[in-house]
Amino acid sequence: MRYFLYTIDVELSPGRSVATPEALRDNYRRGILGTARGTHGLAWQLDVLGEHGIRAVNFVEPLFALAVGDEWLAEIVTIIESRGHEVQLHAHTEWLHRMQPAQLEQHGLPSWRGDHLYCYDLDEQTRILQVALDTLSAHAKTPITAFRAGNFGANLDTLRALARLGLRYDSSFNVAHRGGHCRIALDPVPHDAVSLDHLAPGLTEVPVTCFHDTQGTWRPAQLCAISSSELGALLRAADHDGREHVVFVSHSFELMNRRRTRPHWIHVRRLSRLAERIASSQTWRGVGFNDLPLSPAPLCDRSTPPGYGRLNSVRRSLRIIQQAVGRVLD
Ligand SMILES: [Zn+2]
Repeated sequence: MRYFLYTIDVELSPGRSVATPEALRDNYRRGILGTARGTHGLAWQLDVLGEHGIRAVNFVEPLFALAVGDEWLAEIVTIIESRGHEVQLHAHTEWLHRMQPAQLEQHGLPSWRGDHLYCYDLDEQTRILQVALDTLSAHAKTPITAFRAGNFGANLDTLRALARLGLRYDSSFNVAHRGGHCRIALDPVPHDAVSLDHLAPGLTEVPVTCFHDTQGTWRPAQLCAISSSELGALLRAADHDGREHVVFVSHSFELMNRRRTRPHWIHVRRLSRLAERIASSQTWRGVGFNDLPLSPAPLCDRSTPPGYGRLNSVRRSLRIIQQAVGRVLD
């Protein structure tokens, strides 16, 4: 059995206003609820996945609650756990910028110095992640064992900080963002779960699955970045190559159009097809991190570039057409 981790970064937008209760409610609606009636937001996605036997991993961003209060955080956790899905930790340091000096001091947090964890030193990152973990743990029943950095903006100190806090998994490594916001300098590059005992004792990196398209660029396995046909080819190739994990990325708002005013129907259809594909698979099982019986290989054993490398050019062309149609409909 191989493991398919459908991960959803669940977050309010630090770029949108939270200055008034109405603005906060609007931010929550656009980020979490989907439409005003709650269709195609987080709850809808989790229902579709659950109906197909897939347990989703929800990387929930809790730092916003320190800036605006934790009522909405409690509601997010309830949406997830009442449906039997998994809560894990996500953190966007942009929220430090939205906190008053007294709020930062109350929690022992550093002043905002950048929008990514790598902008902070090891002790500062440890404190930020400790506060985020405590805030989320106060609401979640799920044992929190896994983390993903906001914007994938992590470095090796992030991994060391996670080990200090006793977390078991990190999923911030995304080769498509390496050298950009992702500053995790792992060499060789991991393409499946690897033990990081040598630098962060007890921690396993479970990288975002990426594929090499025909233009030679890495693309993440993400709802907005990969067509259903490409995903099918990727799963077949990952199976053929003996990959143990595929980590798929999405967001709580990813089924909405860019302005988050209505559903993005191409992404909606992709999610349904993906769920059907996993449900009917003899190979892939949709699980959470806490379901993994993981005994990862050391880094050097997982560094072979994936054989699903170059997905064929016809699929790429079809995806580009779909993306163009999506932009027109947006
Ligand atoms: Zn995020």
